[in-house]
Amino acid sequence: MRVLTIFCPECGEKALIKKSNRKHKELSDLYCACRDPECGHTFVLNLTFSHTLMPSAKNKDTLLLDVIKNLSPEQREKALTLLQGM
Ligand SMILES: [Zn+2]
Repeated sequence: MRVLTIFCPECGEKALIKKSNRKHKELSDLYCACRDPECGHTFVLNLTFSHTLMPSAKNKDTLLLDVIKNLSPEQREKALTLLQGM
């Protein structure tokens, strides 16, 4: 697994994440400190969610349930017949 490497925007040395503050499920503030003691710069980075490449498997049941809820009684019968034939 790769670990996020943070660089100090002032001197370019590696920096450490001291604390993270989750402001929203898709947005965190990362409190960082430069590793170079001669620099000592501390700063905040924003970490934001960008986009999905592969949807979460945890949402598949929700999707299925939404589909089932929107079926008419006739469509449900038909789906059931189709499933039983598998
Ligand atoms: Zn620095």
